[in-house]
Amino acid sequence: MTASPAAATEPSGAMIRVAIAGSSGRMGQAVAEAVAAADDMEIACGIDLHPADAAYSVHRTVAEAVDAGGFDVLVDFTQPDAVAGNLACALPAGIDCVVGTTGLAADELERLAALAPAGTCLFYAPNFTTGAVLMMEFAKAAAPYFPEAEVIEMHHCNKKDAPSGTALRTAQMIAAARGGAVSQAPGRETEVPGAEGARGALVDGVPVHSVRSMGFVASQEVVFGSLGQTLTLRHDSWDRGSYMPGVLLGIRSVGSREGLVVGLENFMDA
Ligand code: NAP
Repeated sequence: MTASPAAATEPSGAMIRVAIAGSSGRMGQAVAEAVAAADDMEIACGIDLHPADAAYSVHRTVAEAVDAGGFDVLVDFTQPDAVAGNLACALPAGIDCVVGTTGLAADELERLAALAPAGTCLFYAPNFTTGAVLMMEFAKAAAPYFPEAEVIEMHHCNKKDAPSGTALRTAQMIAAARGGAVSQAPGRETEVPGAEGARGALVDGVPVHSVRSMGFVASQEVVFGSLGQTLTLRHDSWDRGSYMPGVLLGIRSVGSREGLVVGLENFMDA
C-alpha cells in the first residue's frame, strides 16, 4: 500500500454530491457529519425509513431520492435486508454506490453490479477502517505459515448479522492464502450434545466465532497456531469516527472506477 494515511482525507477535485441511505442510523449520522466537514463534498439528501430532523432533505426511499435526482454518489449504511433493494434502484440510474452495509453475498454483489451502465461503480467495503484492512492483509501474509487459524469477532448488541462482514472476508482471505498447510484442530464433530456451535461457524474451513456484548463497537482477533507457537492479530474500533476516512476515500474514488470493487485496500493502493 503506497498511499499515506493522510491521503484518505485529502480533497482531490470538484464538489461531490452525496446521498446517504440510513441517514438516521448510527453510521449514517457519522457519515453525514464527515461529509459536511469535507471541503470537496456536500450532502444532497438523506434517506431513511424514520427521517430525523436534519439540515438536509430526507427521503423515505432510495427510489424517491433517485427520482428527485441531484446526487453523484449513494452511500448505504442501512440493514442487510434493505441494501440490495436500495442498490437495485440506484445502480441502473448510473449512480456510483459506496456500501458499508454488511450481509451481501459475493454473487449478489455481482448481480447488482451488472445492473449498472458502463462507467458506474459499486464499491463494497466489509470494513472501512484502515486498521482492519491492514489486519486482513497481515492475516493473509501469516496464513501460509500456520496450519491453524481461527477468527473471533466482537460487536455491540445491536448488530443484525453474524458473523461480521469483516470476519467473513478475513476467513475467506486466510483460506485462499493457506496453500498446503493442513489443520490438526478438531472440528464440529467434537462438539458435545447441547453445545453445538462451540467450534464456531466454518467459513471456507476457517472457524469463526461471534461475540455480542455491550461495551464493544467492533473488534476482531485472528489467532494463528503451529507447533509450539501462536500469533495473535487484534484490531479494535472504539469509535465510529474510525470508519470515516475510509468512507470519504470511497466517495472520492468511485467516480474514477467502474464495475464491482470489494475492499478498501483497492483504493489505499491507488
Ligand atoms: P442502524 O443504526 O440500525 O442504522 C441503519 C439505518 O438505516 C436505520 O435508521 C434504519 O431505519 C435505516 N434503514 C433501514 N432500511 C432502510 C431503507 N430501506 N432505506 C433507508 N434507510 C433504511 O445501523 P448501523 O449501526 O448504522 O449499521 C448499518 C450497517 O452498516 C449494518 O449493516 C452494519 O453492519 C454496517 N456497518 C458496516 C461497517 C463497515 O465498515 N463496512 C461499519 C459499521 C457498520 P430503521 O431503524 O427505521 O429500520
